[in-house]
Amino acid sequence: MKQCNTCKKNKPERDYHKNKTTRDGLSGKCKKCQAAYIAQWKKDNKARVNELNAQANKRRLERDPEGERAKRNKWAKDWYRRNKKK
Ligand SMILES: [Zn+2]
Repeated sequence: MKQCNTCKKNKPERDYHKNKTTRDGLSGKCKKCQAAYIAQWKKDNKARVNELNAQANKRRLERDPEGERAKRNKWAKDWYRRNKKK
C-alpha cells in the first residue's frame, strides 16, 4: 500500500502510475488524482493545450504530408456534402 500525496488515501500500488523519477518508481498521486489533475491542468491551460495539439498536427503533417492531405480532403468533402444537403 502507498499513500497518495493528494487525496491522502492508502491505495494499492496498482492504483498508481509508474514514474521512474521517484524513489519507489511510482507516481506520488494515485491514478484518480492524476486524472483529475490533468483534467484541471487542461482546463487552466487551454492555450497551451491548443499549442501542443497544433504542434502534434504539424509533426504529423511533416511525417506524412500525403496521408494528412488526403485525410483533410476527405474531411472537407464530407463536410461539404453534409452542409449541402441542408
Ligand atoms: Zn489520490
